[in-house]
Amino acid sequence: MDIQKLEQLHEGKAKKVYKTNDPDLYWIEYKDDATAFDGKKKGTIMNKGILNNRISIHFFNLLEDKGIVTHLVNQVNDREQIVKAVDIIMVEVVVRNIAAGSLSKRIGLPEGTMLPKTVLEFYYKDDALGDPLINDYHIAVLDLATPGQIKAMSEMALKINDILRDYLKDKKIDLIDFKLEFGTHKGEVILADEISPDTCRFWDMETREKLDKDRFRRDMGNVEEAYREVLRRLTGETL
Ligand code: UDP
Repeated sequence: MDIQKLEQLHEGKAKKVYKTNDPDLYWIEYKDDATAFDGKKKGTIMNKGILNNRISIHFFNLLEDKGIVTHLVNQVNDREQIVKAVDIIMVEVVVRNIAAGSLSKRIGLPEGTMLPKTVLEFYYKDDALGDPLINDYHIAVLDLATPGQIKAMSEMALKINDILRDYLKDKKIDLIDFKLEFGTHKGEVILADEISPDTCRFWDMETREKLDKDRFRRDMGNVEEAYREVLRRLTGETL
């Protein structure tokens, strides 16, 4: 069956989601819009939609090869991909290897401190509340996920961390931290959303240069160049 893009279901900060003529599939379009600090800072990163579509597809293919079930079906074009339709679990799962960002602020570890063990965190995906940090008890009280789903998300997140960390080491990139979103598809918890410089912190292993959205958040300049550099290191492609 030829998949056709139908009406828009949802517009997020970085992507639009469309229905298709197949109820099991959605059509995703990546935008150049960039936001930070709960949407208070807004801007555009030229070609970000193209870069993140390619980078995220690259990571999702790698994870599929290693046995992680993801929503990715196939790339349509530069900015678009077809995915399995999921019900998003309203919990953002963050994995951290090195202290940075909100962790440094919250518990006072200077940015760049190597964590003696991996840290796993949950945030409630709720813009009005500013995505607060939550734990298993809060997830149960809010009925965001079952204990089985929390376990599945946690195990997948830690496995994804191992896969990505190893893979990025060869590309001379340190994986500082990243955020994942999961959804349910036919009852199964699968990886959804994206993995890109918007959702990860990537530091050059030698120079410690930031190759991620912190360049936008902190007005450091050369944002597009950093995203291009990530794509180049992963795939050898230049845009
Ligand atoms: N992150 C994200 N979306 C969010 C919040 C965080 O993709 O809404 C990512 C962020 O890019 C970083 C990791 O999750 O790689 C941890 O972010 P942190 O909690 O330090 O928050 P921040 O400093 O970005 O506010």
